[in-house]
Amino acid sequence: MFQDNNGGGYSPKPQRQMFQGNWKCGTCNGEITQLPFEPDPSRLGTLLCRDCHKNKQSYK
Ligand SMILES: [Zn+2]
Repeated sequence: MFQDNNGGGYSPKPQRQMFQGNWKCGTCNGEITQLPFEPDPSRLGTLLCRDCHKNKQSYK
């Protein structure tokens, strides 16, 4: 049986990648300069800025 003993417990931290750009919020028409995901070019009209995204989430 092999035993690896080189530090152990190595767990890569998932980093949240931010995408920089110049988009427009489809709801308030506000500027969006940063997104946590890469927007689909065909759905740029449905992008939401931070505020609208928040509002949407709290609105059920
Ligand atoms: Zn908005």
